[in-house]
Amino acid sequence: MKVGWKTFTSQSARRDLLCTVPCHLTPRNGATVPSRHRERVCNLPIRESPDHLENIDISLILITLVSNFYPLVLRNKTCGELRKEHNGQSVTLAGWVDSVRDHSGVLFINLRDRYGLTQIVFLQENDEKLSETVRSLHPEDVVQIVGKVGLRPEGIVNKKIPTGEIEVTAESLTVLNRTAVVPFQPSAPEVPAEETRLKYRYLDLRRPPMQKTLLLRHRICKVLRDYFDELGFVEVETPMLGKSTPEGARDYLVPSRVAQGQFYALPQSPQIYKQILMIAGYDRYFQIARCFRDEDLRADRQPEFTQLDVEMSFVNSEDVIETINGLVVRLMKEVLGRELNPSPATQGVRAGAQPTAPPGTGVPIPRMGYDEAMERFGHDAPDLRFGMELIDLTDLAKTVEFRVFRSVADDGGRVRAINAKGAAEKYSRKDIDGLNTWVIEQFGAKGVAWLKVDADGKLAGPIAKNFTESELAEMTKKLGAKPNDFILFSADTFSVTCKVLNGLRRRLAAELGLIDPNEMNFCWIVRFPMFDWDEENKRWIAMHHPFTAPLTGDVSYMDSDPGKIRAQAYDLVLNGFELGGGTIRIHDSAIQSKVFDLLGFTHESAKEQFGFLLEALQFGAPPHGGIALGLDRLVMLFGGLDNIRDCIAFPKTTKAADLMTGAPSPVAEKQLDELAISVKKSEP
Ligand code: ASP
Repeated sequence: MKVGWKTFTSQSARRDLLCTVPCHLTPRNGATVPSRHRERVCNLPIRESPDHLENIDISLILITLVSNFYPLVLRNKTCGELRKEHNGQSVTLAGWVDSVRDHSGVLFINLRDRYGLTQIVFLQENDEKLSETVRSLHPEDVVQIVGKVGLRPEGIVNKKIPTGEIEVTAESLTVLNRTAVVPFQPSAPEVPAEETRLKYRYLDLRRPPMQKTLLLRHRICKVLRDYFDELGFVEVETPMLGKSTPEGARDYLVPSRVAQGQFYALPQSPQIYKQILMIAGYDRYFQIARCFRDEDLRADRQPEFTQLDVEMSFVNSEDVIETINGLVVRLMKEVLGRELNPSPATQGVRAGAQPTAPPGTGVPIPRMGYDEAMERFGHDAPDLRFGMELIDLTDLAKTVEFRVFRSVADDGGRVRAINAKGAAEKYSRKDIDGLNTWVIEQFGAKGVAWLKVDADGKLAGPIAKNFTESELAEMTKKLGAKPNDFILFSADTFSVTCKVLNGLRRRLAAELGLIDPNEMNFCWIVRFPMFDWDEENKRWIAMHHPFTAPLTGDVSYMDSDPGKIRAQAYDLVLNGFELGGGTIRIHDSAIQSKVFDLLGFTHESAKEQFGFLLEALQFGAPPHGGIALGLDRLVMLFGGLDNIRDCIAFPKTTKAADLMTGAPSPVAEKQLDELAISVKKSEP
């Protein structure tokens, strides 16, 4: 049976592509092309419709495929690869047209792929057809170039790009695909509106900064995997379709078709599964795990996100912290090329005590108790790259006449302040009004009071007249106030003063340029409270999750004063962001039941939700604990970025929508019927 050429050029669009198939093939005895080869042949670029070729011998094709394999490849170098040493080599490049330039009749294109950019020059003055094709190109057309590498003439070497010393003189050009008119050009310096970027994500992902970030993400994942693998951790996948996990957010639910009316919950984290893996004896687990939380989204949150999830058996908090310290050292070195050396002062202390001390033992990442963090910074993920710590003036406020301060202090509230050194001149009345409105709107505060220090070192401002000379002197002392300092006060409940002053501290530091953008400032926050009192519902809620173990010494408060119990919990903070957190878990089912009790679970409801865990805990659960780090955030901070969506290939908007695919979207009535679900139509 003969095969006609048309078999290979089934799509008309391919007809105007140029052919790199050797055209000397002649019709012979013929055979059908096995579909797998047909596919391959079909994908070959075709120079022209070779009408003179009716039929082709398949065996010849196969031989040609093998013997001419190299000429058939669409490229043998990338656009980021060529250097001086390649001078004189013949190369085949393929990529996207970044730009086309006509310099007095000499045509250039910049050819781009994810590896870089190569300048192509067309010297065939007499080849009008080729020149015409080049002139017809648009940015984002896909082309193949065969040509020769040459050194760029002196004076036009481009030091800004790695391929800037060479250019490729084109011998032929193949248009592999034409682009439609692009809504934005990936190489343009101006960044399009985010909506446009998300809708045309494939174009956005062609932008070099996005490519850099996705490669960084890949690099980070590789380092994580290598690190844990070397330490004997095992990566285990846990289910997506499972039972609700108790991380405190709303679940994404998936209806079951088989068991109508019943639902799976997408995991908020693999928390319970990883604990069960410890009970199953897996000892050291990690996973780069997708998690889903249906929360109100903020700029740095996504409904689905990725965590580095870790769990270890026979460990205490120190072991987990030090294992992660080792990871931080490794990431800093392998991703950023920076050292975070163990300090000689602390190294060896623990290593001596325990021969199998984790690799991060002695790494100089400071630790701070939760209470201290809230006192000094008003936040449990303090940004330690700058000072401007909170100063408490409550005792002084109890002695003054000024009612705004006095009444708050007398009622058990707090009066605290920050001192923005040397910033008095930088904030006008109008600016301060702006700060005032901001704290009212953002933090539900009553407002912010302020004073400036004048050139003589005196506290001045509208509220100064409410204080006696000696009160002002005392305040000056406490605040360490010097000429031109700008003092901002918050007088409110402890919680509101924390929010207001943490907010102002961060905002002013950014406005005053106090932050070194290259600094990577890590710290651990430890000794968290176990429970938070939910005033609205009058009940205790778990500050981490209900499987967190209390500090051994605090168990006795379980009945008397649960608010006093501190947890065996630890959070890793980087540059003022919570990078992750974890806890040592309760491995004793009696304590676990007690905690459930305190959290208001009835025996039945605990059994209903976590019965399988409670049951598993009875079958020889080892002491265990773990941690999870937010991968998206890690990438964001290691990449020096400020938008989490830029760290995710296909992110959602703050309304949890995927603008490229249009998800979420309505589904067919039939699909709903199969699930026995009907959608309540909201009133128009
Ligand atoms: N499951 C916790 C979380 O996702 C982390 C942990 O305790 O390991 O925040």
